[in-house]
Amino acid sequence: MEHKLTDIKEIGEFGLIKRIAASTKLRNIETIKGIGDDAAVIQCNGDRIVITTDMLIEGVHFDLTYMPLIHLGYKAVAVNLSDIFAMNAIPKQITVSIGLSSKFSVEHVDEIYKGISKACELYQVDLVGGDTVASPNGLVISITAIGTVSDDQITYRNGAKANDLICVTGDLGAAYLGLKLLAREKEVFEINPNEQPQLIGYEYLIERQLKPEPRQDIVVKLKELDILPTSMIDVSDGLSSELMHICQSSAKGCRIYDDKIPIHPQSVALSDEFMIEPIIPALNGGEDYELLFTVDQKHFEKVKSMENVSIIGHITNVEGQYEIVFQDGTVLPLSAQGWNAFTEE
Ligand SMILES: [Mg+2]
Repeated sequence: MEHKLTDIKEIGEFGLIKRIAASTKLRNIETIKGIGDDAAVIQCNGDRIVITTDMLIEGVHFDLTYMPLIHLGYKAVAVNLSDIFAMNAIPKQITVSIGLSSKFSVEHVDEIYKGISKACELYQVDLVGGDTVASPNGLVISITAIGTVSDDQITYRNGAKANDLICVTGDLGAAYLGLKLLAREKEVFEINPNEQPQLIGYEYLIERQLKPEPRQDIVVKLKELDILPTSMIDVSDGLSSELMHICQSSAKGCRIYDDKIPIHPQSVALSDEFMIEPIIPALNGGEDYELLFTVDQKHFEKVKSMENVSIIGHITNVEGQYEIVFQDGTVLPLSAQGWNAFTEE
């Protein structure tokens, strides 16, 4: 009988992660948290060390026709630091592994590391090692970030309680729309190289796609205000998907309100141009690298006073029910159409 192999698309990225996690055994008491959160957690005396890793591959995660190498280096660091902040931790070190095909010169590599250094300087992180290898095709960057946090300040995905406020930083959907815009202009350029790209008025969206900033400011501010979120995650795959991760890990449900979801005016304008509802990229676009967190109701006034934070709804006791309420009273179930890496959009 022929042995049937399963297409990865059938179980998806999250299914694949679950499968790997299920076959993984933790052997050391110092391993506090393995697979299943924004970062792994390791005990070190009274403190916790958090570790996360992210790989970017040319043609999958970036297109060098519109992604300058210096930005690519910067972004590769930024997306890793975002996962460290999502644990309420402060990043301290990174390692960088890079795979290079023969089309890259020393000067190209210099550009990538210029971007990496810039991010390290801004976020006060040390580059402490890595690996450089030859790649048969294109560019691969894999970064591991290490951070620290005291054991009573760490935030997991699984601590959300009923009636907790759901909060999100910045605005959502802009990075995805920036990518759509760059892709459209690339297509125009390929048909007619004399055509100038039409990016005016959408600079913010381009910046959000090419140069995301992880929310260190929010982690610092929460500490200042003496607010410890009950759960936290970074928004890399879209709000819906991340909210469902928090609810699933916490065995809870949620209710959010469409008019509370922060959307930048440029995102609204470009959505109109693409004839999509702005709420769609806000819920399902990727790469925002904002923080999504839940806090106890007692922090309402403090959170309301925070700049760049929106309260978008609350956690419910109805496990598995994820809802969005529209201004006209319509209630729809949220679906995770996030950036599942192994399914076609
Ligand atoms: Mg994450």
